[in-house]
Amino acid sequence: MSGKLRRFPGGLHLDGHKTESTQCAVQRARLPRRLILPLHQHIGAEAKSVVMAGERVLKGQMIARAEGYVSAPVHAPSSGTVVEIGDRPVPHPSGLSAPCIVIETDGTEQWCERHPVQDYITQDPSHLRNLIREAGIVGLGGAGFPSFIKLNPLGKTVDTLILNAAECEPYITCDDMLMRERAAEIIHGIQIMRHALHAAHCIIGIEDNKPEARAALVRALQELHIDGIQVTQVPTRYPAGGEKQLIHVLTGKEVPSNGLPVHIGIVCHNVATAAAIYRAVQHGEPLISRYVTVTGSGVPEPRNLEVLFGTPMAELLEQCGADPASVERLVMGGPMMGFGVHMPGVPVVKTTNCLLADRHLPAAPAAMPCIRCGACAEACPANLLPQQLYWHAHAGEFDKAQNYNLFDCIECGCCAAVCPSHIPLVQYYRYAKGEIWTREREKQKADVARERHEFRLARLAQDKAEREARHAQKKAELAGKTAPHETTSH
Ligand code: SF4
Ligand code: SF4
Repeated sequence: MSGKLRRFPGGLHLDGHKTESTQCAVQRARLPRRLILPLHQHIGAEAKSVVMAGERVLKGQMIARAEGYVSAPVHAPSSGTVVEIGDRPVPHPSGLSAPCIVIETDGTEQWCERHPVQDYITQDPSHLRNLIREAGIVGLGGAGFPSFIKLNPLGKTVDTLILNAAECEPYITCDDMLMRERAAEIIHGIQIMRHALHAAHCIIGIEDNKPEARAALVRALQELHIDGIQVTQVPTRYPAGGEKQLIHVLTGKEVPSNGLPVHIGIVCHNVATAAAIYRAVQHGEPLISRYVTVTGSGVPEPRNLEVLFGTPMAELLEQCGADPASVERLVMGGPMMGFGVHMPGVPVVKTTNCLLADRHLPAAPAAMPCIRCGACAEACPANLLPQQLYWHAHAGEFDKAQNYNLFDCIECGCCAAVCPSHIPLVQYYRYAKGEIWTREREKQKADVARERHEFRLARLAQDKAEREARHAQKKAELAGKTAPHETTSH
């Protein structure tokens, strides 16, 4: 592999605000009295509950199973009793409620039986993928796509496994702290991934603003005597952690529009996902917790916490010295790609990498008309034309927006950040994508209904034809029986 780094187009240099939350070691978040577990914490179909209210559950026990191929199960993060299964507010831009399992914890943290695999190298990759699937592991970089799917190249050759350690968005430091504190776990997880994918090359791509984390990874590789994993620093420039951008910087390859990295022989996973895979395979522990950065101007003691899923966000704010009632804006994720949380009582889920809480926010400037300055296009790391996307999304011309590769937009927010007219461009792109998906779903439903109708008509026609044939046959049999009788009577 060539060590030469490329540059992706556009991008921004942003104030990192990382040091605030990296001054102290990661602490465990306090065990809450109640854990609220949404059944949908991942990309794909919602998991289906397999427990009932009143049932006692153990830490690590599966409480909801995956529904279909693209889905992920949910496990009890602690032991206790299921006290409710029903709709609860969840962290989502819509602010809506969704089905959740609520567990009242008993404080004993009693584990269910675990089945660790010590020697993963002797295991068939399909068995490892199944373990990872059953452990509910999804991409922890923010997207939440079920990880076992990305470890199944379906006959395609994977030349390079890339570990995304860029963590390019301001304020977020959970991966940085994980690398500093659990580098060996990450390396073991990467080895399991390499075994599953048979990848010839492996690169960890890390921004050059994380020297401690990089040193920890290099040290772990030396101590574990592991070869073939390259730790490569990339320049700190947002959004270097975008999958396509990182692949381009590290390999010079372009993921095709509407294509996947595996189409060019590359698979990309987040470093926290690698650590989760290690714990699932070698300790038999499902995904029940993660590191979460709690930071922002409304947090007196910013830090990273190891948090059980289902923990109300308000309790994390309190543990970091903040009064949830005085927080003016709470964002899940970072300032560029995160979304506003409507109430601090919603739970931490698998994709919660950061809570950004601010106290005194300046009023957002009013949006002005587009002056066609082109600044947005210069900042776009995906080589798109944000202005055109905006015009078409604004006019409801979704086909035209799609023709301008709307779905290549990674919603990084660079265009909106530089727009002198303060147009909330990303909101328009999200709206346009949502409308296209809704129409696509409605079209699929209409197609299914039409197919069902056509099938019914065909079945009715067939029934009629069969009835007529039976009728004709009966008539012919009757005629056959009658004819000799008639003959003899004459
Ligand atoms: S940056 Fe804003 S004002 Fe300038 S072209 Fe883009 S959308 Fe229009
Ligand atoms: S949000 Fe989309 S259009 Fe805007 S800069 Fe990012 S990738 Fe480009």
